Amino acid sequence: MRSLSRSNAHFKKASSRLPLGVASNFRYWGDDKTIYIDHGKGARIWDIDDNEYIDYRLGYGPIILGYADARVDAAAKEGMEVGGVFALATEREYEVADRISNMVPAAELLRFSNSGTEAVMAALRIARGYTGKDCHVVMEGGYHGLFTELMWEADVEDWKPGDAEPDIIPFGDGIPQATKQLFHSVPMNDANALEDLLKKKHDQIAAFLIEPIMGNCCGIKADAQYMKDVRTICDRYDVLLIIDEVKTGFRVAKGGVQELYGIKADLCTFAKAVGNGYPLSVVAGREEIMRKVGDGIAHGGTFTAHSVSLAAAAKTLEILDETTALADIESYGLKLQSGLSKILDARGIAHSFTGHPSLMGLFFAEEAPSNYREWLTSDYAFYDALAPELHELGILIEPDSREPWFLCESHNVECLSETLDKFEQAVDITLPKYKKRSSRPPSEG
Ligand code: PLP
Repeated sequence: MRSLSRSNAHFKKASSRLPLGVASNFRYWGDDKTIYIDHGKGARIWDIDDNEYIDYRLGYGPIILGYADARVDAAAKEGMEVGGVFALATEREYEVADRISNMVPAAELLRFSNSGTEAVMAALRIARGYTGKDCHVVMEGGYHGLFTELMWEADVEDWKPGDAEPDIIPFGDGIPQATKQLFHSVPMNDANALEDLLKKKHDQIAAFLIEPIMGNCCGIKADAQYMKDVRTICDRYDVLLIIDEVKTGFRVAKGGVQELYGIKADLCTFAKAVGNGYPLSVVAGREEIMRKVGDGIAHGGTFTAHSVSLAAAAKTLEILDETTALADIESYGLKLQSGLSKILDARGIAHSFTGHPSLMGLFFAEEAPSNYREWLTSDYAFYDALAPELHELGILIEPDSREPWFLCESHNVECLSETLDKFEQAVDITLPKYKKRSSRPPSEG
């Protein structure tokens, strides 16, 4: 067993000043399981008890090259010398904007912010300003940041196949009831559900906001035909298509998920991988729409286009654009999937992978889900039992099976063999305990 004695002691101290002892609710893993990180390098991180982990969470996606990447950090240091923020523009904004536009054809014009949440907030505001309509539709299981209009969700966890549609519930307290009427959701890969909704309400709906690979829901993927239908239906009903590439952007392909599907959004958002961990986000889109920014639609922010983040982004994007980094990550992901499958197949454990090799869901059922409702039919409890055993052995994956595994350029052959070795050990530790506890078998064979 790894020792977490320093983390446990620090948790007590930190809880006296920070709710749950952390800076973000999702970092609290229990009073005796919350870990505090000392540092990260490459694909590995070390906690304050000196436990070492191969990290497949990567800060929920920003780390695309590796922690403390020397090339990006040198650029960030040079960005520090520029001076930070001035409430005035710098030349590098154009350099980064031009690189992004060349990588992502839908990003004809763009603006920067700091977080994914800010970029999605801006995209929704721009969609409203451009269309003159107030409501939006999202995909069931989608997550687009913590801001009021999007803090509603279809309650799939409490829904059973055969029930009526899931209830729409808030993400906790503090969400004004009045914002519920702006929100609609539809299941992924059901073009009829979208068309039925837009047929009735298109005169109120400004945008359909989606992640074609759901980065917060096992990496569940849209079918290629569904994406074509979505584009056509949005055009038919004058509803803007916003593709949220906060997780997929500069990760699943140089041109993001839009390149994979050969589709152009009206508006799109980027954040995580843009600066390899330095905070910079982007709202981008069709020129005609984006020209409304500054011509009626407000956009700005004190820390927008900070010189450190911009310099880090310029270097990160140069590497992603001009080297084989993304292809190398994908190739590692395919090898990892094949190794994991071998171990699971040898034990007759049904499984499948969703998403993209660089952002992949491991799913304990024969068939990968095609929407969030189908996640319920998988053996996610086995995943929940396996994750803590992997943590003990030094492989860090998210404890919740709905969060995919993230890969970066620094995951190398040593990481691969160590991960597979430890995964095999973790499965063999989990199986007997799980069989005792669960009435469901871990696999159908
Ligand atoms: N959009 C998507 C698809 C996300 O996955 C996230 C965060 O995970 C966000 C938006 C919000 O980004 P941030 O946490 O940077 O505000």
